[in-house]
Amino acid sequence: HRALQVKEEHYPIVGEFLLKAIKEVLGDAATDDIMNAWEEAYGEIAGVFIQMEKAMYEQAAWEDFKSFKITNIEDQGTSMKSFEVEPVDNIKIPELVAGQYITVRIKPTNDDNLALRHYSIYSVKNGGKIRFAVKREGEGEKKGLVSHDLHDKYSVGDTIELSAPAGDFKVESDKDKKLLLLSSGAGVTPMLAMLEDEAYKGRNVHFVHVNEAEKDVPFKEEVDALNAMNENVEVTYHLKEKDGYLTSNELSNWINEDVDIYLCGGITFMDTIFDELEKLNIGQADVHFEPFGPKMSITNV
Ligand SMILES: Cc1cc2nc3c(=O)[nH]c(=O)nc-3n(C[C@H](O)[C@H](O)[C@H](O)COP(=O)(O)OP(=O)(O)OC[C@H]3O[C@@H](n4cnc5c(N)ncnc54)[C@H](O)[C@@H]3O)c2cc1C
Repeated sequence: HRALQVKEEHYPIVGEFLLKAIKEVLGDAATDDIMNAWEEAYGEIAGVFIQMEKAMYEQAAWEDFKSFKITNIEDQGTSMKSFEVEPVDNIKIPELVAGQYITVRIKPTNDDNLALRHYSIYSVKNGGKIRFAVKREGEGEKKGLVSHDLHDKYSVGDTIELSAPAGDFKVESDKDKKLLLLSSGAGVTPMLAMLEDEAYKGRNVHFVHVNEAEKDVPFKEEVDALNAMNENVEVTYHLKEKDGYLTSNELSNWINEDVDIYLCGGITFMDTIFDELEKLNIGQADVHFEPFGPKMSITNV
């Protein structure tokens, strides 16, 4: 809702038509009592949403969407590109928190509607810029609308629109604990931001990235440099081409009570890892995670 800029004034119209739809579907069962109860329930839920969203909008570094100019684009592995953007207007980039994301709004080619997609910030370094990275999703008929456009149609100097950084995925562990940052594919983005930030603070971090082959690994140079510069950093690239799937056996070597687990990636990856963690008696409540899709898609949730 925050990303879509849903505001208080939008709730009455959604409520009106939701109630009409409920009435139509229920038919004769839609007695006055039932319809009044639905109206009351919608009002209650809308009230909670409005209050929560109001607080989020008040905290946001800027309102709505603002124009940003692309200042750099780089290939990352075989299927990702990183984008560095700076505001066109005079807005100040706030202090960024590792794990936050921005929402990009573009008008895709061959589509009349504006499209909004979230992308995690991969570095909390500020310098008046925001850095995010996009994985090309799907091919042919199944190609993702926004990711392909960002890869193929946008160049340095072009502008895109961004909402203010937000999100509640962040490092919350007590500082004596080691972090296990586990990612696959595009899930690398918030993990890289956390790795960079926590390595700088001197925390013990084990960064594990799962991908097909070495050539596919995004940000390899950056991660290897952080590994070389910081004794407190350990890096594992788990390459499916030679290592197969990541199983509970391997995970068990990295996990103990002094390690906190952070997990990010697509829904299938998250599902698999949660299944493997369950074999080690680790439940979702013990893991900090951000799926790159709706949380309810994860079958274990
Ligand atoms: C909090 C958050 C952070 C995120 N951070 C990142 C990030 O840092 N980097 C990143 O790359 N992504 C990130 N994502 C995912 C991103 O927001 C988009 O979902 C992603 O880029 C796909 O958008 P798209 O428009 O290209 O695909 P869409 O057009 O939205 O399609 C979605 C999926 O459906 C598939 N599809 C399309 N048509 C068909 C069809 N006919 N049949 C079957 N499948 C089809 C596509 O291949 C694609 O995989 C994040 C998501 C969230 C929620």
